[in-house]
Amino acid sequence: MITRSRRRRQPTSNIATSRKILTSHFPLHQVGLFIQLDPSRLQAMMAEGGSDLEAFLLDEPVDVGPWRRYAYQIERDVERDEEADDDDRFNASDVHEKAGEDLAAHILIWLISDINVAFVLGEPSNEDELRWADKAMKRLVKWSTDPFYRDLLGDPLTDAMCPIYWNESLLVKFSQNGGMAALYGDWNQTKKSLMAVTRELQNKINHEEPSIVKHPVYLNALFNIHSRYGLAAFQRTAKIETWQSPIIFQFLCHRIKKDCLTFRTKQDWIPLLGEFVILPDVVRRRYKWAHMSISCQWDCLTFYGCDNDSCPEQQALVRLRGKRVRGVRDPEIEERLRVWGAKSKACSKCEESSYCSQFCQKAHWPAHKPTCLESRARRSKRVIGGSPH
Ligand SMILES: [Zn+2]
Ligand SMILES: [Zn+2]
Ligand SMILES: [Zn+2]
Repeated sequence: MITRSRRRRQPTSNIATSRKILTSHFPLHQVGLFIQLDPSRLQAMMAEGGSDLEAFLLDEPVDVGPWRRYAYQIERDVERDEEADDDDRFNASDVHEKAGEDLAAHILIWLISDINVAFVLGEPSNEDELRWADKAMKRLVKWSTDPFYRDLLGDPLTDAMCPIYWNESLLVKFSQNGGMAALYGDWNQTKKSLMAVTRELQNKINHEEPSIVKHPVYLNALFNIHSRYGLAAFQRTAKIETWQSPIIFQFLCHRIKKDCLTFRTKQDWIPLLGEFVILPDVVRRRYKWAHMSISCQWDCLTFYGCDNDSCPEQQALVRLRGKRVRGVRDPEIEERLRVWGAKSKACSKCEESSYCSQFCQKAHWPAHKPTCLESRARRSKRVIGGSPH
């Protein structure tokens, strides 16, 4: 099969494959690490190199060498060519291997990535250093998230990024600069770091409007977590007890498990996240209740659960709260509190009120009827997806 990939001209440059370069591989990475460990060296280097060095390290596109560029193009050609056969794929992997032998490019990418990481690790003490750190962070995010650079920079970039993956506050900074999707895209770092990013994701979603989940960055992140880690990552985060309940993760766990939904493409996630955006308030409240700490549940007893003002169980629990001795726990009563909140269900007609039982719903109906009719009319004007009931 003659494909476009065959017609591309191979680079003419030689590749240095001698063992000498192989052995210098680690020393040069060490240079990068020394620069990271010794900020004064970085400052001296920048003072010496001036604006040329700044442009080289922080502005100009990184040069990965002709063989890596060639391998990237060939691989894209084969991907796009629907008639590509085994020969073509074999040829592409040959070129890929050859590009891997370009150790000089490999080492240079490593060194430049290390130095960019060094800028981010330091504590900027003047305007220049602030600018460098800013540029370096943007550059690392771009390299890590852009498929073009990801492919070209490959393993050296992943290795150089370790100091960021291992540091929670840098990781958060990295994710706030748009690197979140990359972390979930190819990443087998520690669970602790995964948790740091997941929590950050959840905080952002809680602070913004729910509709932010439809933003491509979040869509990518959620898609990538799920395709890489399955439901486990969502379940772990959904279990963290905080005031800021991770509703998004509970919602995803609930929906994916209940309907055995399968998500193979990002496209599949769009309607699900759309559903989260218009999730009725009562349903959100119930998700929250399920993951509140016991003291939060006591605090929120009167806001969550049942809208029937004279709900007998609610009144009983409020009385128990009054008798409660701080610091002394009673598992039986706490279980009663948890069960009451968890039983709460939305009025199926309006989805704007919730009740702990049919008894309470009936008792509240005379008072609820006018608002229910009103909100039902409002609802029918909107396009509504299913709720997680
Ligand atoms: Zn009730
Ligand atoms: Zn209603
Ligand atoms: Zn449900």
